[in-house]
Amino acid sequence: MQDDFLARLAAIVGANQVLTGADAAPFAVSARRVRGDCLAVVRPGTTQEVADVVRLAASCAVPVVPQGGNTGLSDGAVPRGPGVLVLSLSRLNAVLDVDPLNFTMTVQAGVVLAAAQQAASAHGLLLPISLGAEGSCQIGGNLATNAGGKSVLKHGMARACVLGLEVVLPDGTVWNGLKQLRKDNAGYDLKQLFVGAEGTLGTITAAVLALQPAPRTTVTAFVAVPGPAQAIRLLARLRRDSGDCVSAFELMNRYALQVPLAHMPGASRPFDALPAWAVLVELSSCRRDDPLAALLEDALAAAMDAQEVVDAVVAQSQAQALAFWKLRDEGTAFYWKEGGMLLHDPSVPIRSIPDFVERVAQGVEQAASGARVSAFGHIGDGNIHIIVSQPEGADKRAFLALAPAIQQVVYGTAVALGGSFSAEHGIGQLKTAHLARYGDPVALQLMRRLRAALDPRGTMNPRTLFDLQAET
Ligand SMILES: Cc1cc2nc3c(=O)[nH]c(=O)nc-3n(C[C@H](O)[C@H](O)[C@H](O)COP(=O)(O)OP(=O)(O)OC[C@H]3O[C@@H](n4cnc5c(N)ncnc54)[C@H](O)[C@@H]3O)c2cc1C
Repeated sequence: MQDDFLARLAAIVGANQVLTGADAAPFAVSARRVRGDCLAVVRPGTTQEVADVVRLAASCAVPVVPQGGNTGLSDGAVPRGPGVLVLSLSRLNAVLDVDPLNFTMTVQAGVVLAAAQQAASAHGLLLPISLGAEGSCQIGGNLATNAGGKSVLKHGMARACVLGLEVVLPDGTVWNGLKQLRKDNAGYDLKQLFVGAEGTLGTITAAVLALQPAPRTTVTAFVAVPGPAQAIRLLARLRRDSGDCVSAFELMNRYALQVPLAHMPGASRPFDALPAWAVLVELSSCRRDDPLAALLEDALAAAMDAQEVVDAVVAQSQAQALAFWKLRDEGTAFYWKEGGMLLHDPSVPIRSIPDFVERVAQGVEQAASGARVSAFGHIGDGNIHIIVSQPEGADKRAFLALAPAIQQVVYGTAVALGGSFSAEHGIGQLKTAHLARYGDPVALQLMRRLRAALDPRGTMNPRTLFDLQAET
């Protein structure tokens, strides 16, 4: 029966676009190095082929896991089970159109984010989605996870730039919603249903994205601050004084700086003595020669007088700015060198960040004495990543056994402060139990009803969001 299914897949996409065995194995490992398994990987080259593959899989009750760049940090794109089909979107990689008058671009789902950014940039435009994995994540994955990143402060999450979508529904029907409109109140806003759905309601095959004028002047600075309370006051000051030109504002505590400096080849220290807390600030403007650097320096001087700032280094070149960003963007790749680690992705209202950070530090110390806490992230959005690394020299297994207690500290504190336990990376397969625990019961019920309505057979990414396979 399996052979028959594979033969029918090959008839749709061509035999060389159906991968099995060792060829399929790399697609079954997540960015967090979680290993799954699968029946096969299929790589359709057109929307019609995606539709035919999905229809065939549904008719044979074969679970389908859509996969983009496989950079997701919640394991939503990892197949788990010998009967699962990975649907790779990587061959749908064409930029179909950039319209500089409409300020839009139309792209297939498999376009790598960096390639889409470059296509927009070639027209003097900005695609306002930017994240550390942009060299390999894909637009379809960005929309399916409603990705965040450093531009959220100014431009919102990925969903904010979606004007239209093309989606293959779980039964193989193609919905062509590729509209280029900013105003369209004709019924439910269906496209937003698929954004953030993590491939459980359908497969995104193309999108129309809203673009912005590209910034022409940018200034970047690493700023040492006494603590998170001063950091959020500095953010408010900079937003006011710059006429809302703050395009990124990333907090890092000392341990978050130490990890990349210790392990990342070529990392350079922004400060001689590492501060307890620092923020990476970026101001940008669409006006050429906007005096942003002078403005930033004045604001920092005033902030220093107000004891919000301890020290500051303004990047003197693009290379120095990139070196600053490298510390922030690529640092997470090195925590495994510090031993066992637990990554959390919560958000709280901005004013609660100082309280949150303090409560988490205390709670983690109680749960795992000596554990090292890295607090960093997009605090302009209230999103602060917490990585807890094992105490130096501790036993990794014994530390990881404390995960439930540590997660309860981080997630429980976020929720108690009116925040979310999952701000950015989605639920995937990693956080299904946490969703059941912290989610609002009415909202969860609505989500289940929506999912059952669109995918009554439960074949689309069945272990993501709710683990449908465990429930049956
Ligand atoms: C170094 C690093 C930095 C990161 N920084 C950020 C960050 O700042 N902000 C942030 O939000 N995330 C971040 N991430 C997480 C990740 O990059 C994002 O979640 C990204 O949007 C995933 O895109 P992808 O193409 O890799 O999707 P995948 O990992 O392939 O898939 C993610 C989910 O989307 C589904 N999916 C993928 N493609 C489609 C499609 N075409 N149709 C329907 N469903 C689909 C999958 O089934 C899965 O559930 C980071 C990851 C790394 C490794």
